[in-house]
Amino acid sequence: MTRFIDLPALAQLVQQVGVPRFISELAQTIQNDFLRWEDFDKSPRLASHSQLGVIELMPVADAERYAFKYVNGHPGNTARGLPTVMAFGVLAEVSTGYPLLLSELTLTTAFRTAATSAMAARALARPGSRRMALIGNGAQSEFQALAFHHLVGIDEISVYDLDPKATDKLVRNLAAYPTLRVRRATSVADAVRGADIVTTVTADKTRAAILTAEMIEPGVHINGVGGDCPGKTELHPEVLRGARVFVEYEPQTRVEGDIQQMAADFPVVDLWRVLAGTAEGRQSDAQVTVFDSVGFALEDFSALSYVYRLACAHGVGRDVDLVPTADDPKDLFRFTSSAPAPVALRRVA
Ligand code: NAD
Repeated sequence: MTRFIDLPALAQLVQQVGVPRFISELAQTIQNDFLRWEDFDKSPRLASHSQLGVIELMPVADAERYAFKYVNGHPGNTARGLPTVMAFGVLAEVSTGYPLLLSELTLTTAFRTAATSAMAARALARPGSRRMALIGNGAQSEFQALAFHHLVGIDEISVYDLDPKATDKLVRNLAAYPTLRVRRATSVADAVRGADIVTTVTADKTRAAILTAEMIEPGVHINGVGGDCPGKTELHPEVLRGARVFVEYEPQTRVEGDIQQMAADFPVVDLWRVLAGTAEGRQSDAQVTVFDSVGFALEDFSALSYVYRLACAHGVGRDVDLVPTADDPKDLFRFTSSAPAPVALRRVA
């Protein structure tokens, strides 16, 4: 049968293992998968654009498992009482196509995006980085703050959002983590001043320039998360021109990332090669580094695999008859009558 994890079940799993362990084990799972990059059948996600947003399908597979995520991005949604980003996904067995897991991925995406950001920063930011600016204090922001606190060693963040209520919510939620100092900034420039790392995680369907060249101090690492769709950016082109830029999957990032503003031959470095030790990361203390994050299917593959493992180990979620598993697999028609329910042959591990 297929393991079904809805939002309450995922929340239960997170509460059972705790946020720090969940982020840290997920980051390790993502890193292990990035280190076997060549094992995966990869493609850019398939995007369906409309006036108010985008809906995307993100498939990826290795020899054993296939995964896809359905995800949207509608920056106007919060005014209608809906999240900007909502997602769910499937993990299946390649040998049979059998769906092993159907899971919520909205909460999981926030974890996997933050874990990926922290994984990149560990490889690219100056060692000893302690202060981070966090621009955009919406749904993703606490996850980013805590991933950088627990995995990178950030112990002070300066936070800013155009919407003061979003910042109120962030400050309130982070009060439970007293080892992370939070300072409210009065502007983007105020937040960024003196930061070792700058995270931009804003949502606006426009070519924004949240960070401009005069705000950028030598040696800073920029974790650009919100520029992730054609026509939707956060970094001024001058910021990119002055930096060494790292990407998840170049064919997708050229279209969706902040580098969509640059020429097709603008140099970028694959993050997986840096992790594998075959490409240089930061080349000097003064160099500005940018992780031009857009979110790649492999991170969701890792997240679904991690959630599946954890759900089975903790007995969380429930098994559902998503596909027929009867004693005669050729007899699909029997489901059209009110005969006794067919015998399920398979169970999840
Ligand atoms: P959200 O709508 O909950 O929060 C976004 C916040 O950005 C809002 O509070 C808004 O007021 C603020 N904002 C907008 N323009 C701003 C500006 N100019 N200056 C300061 N603040 C500004 O959205 P979310 O779920 O937190 O997502 C944030 C962004 O991250 C979205 O653009 C989303 O598409 C992106 N995202 C990227 C990835 C990835 O893998 N790269 C994954 C998930 C989400």
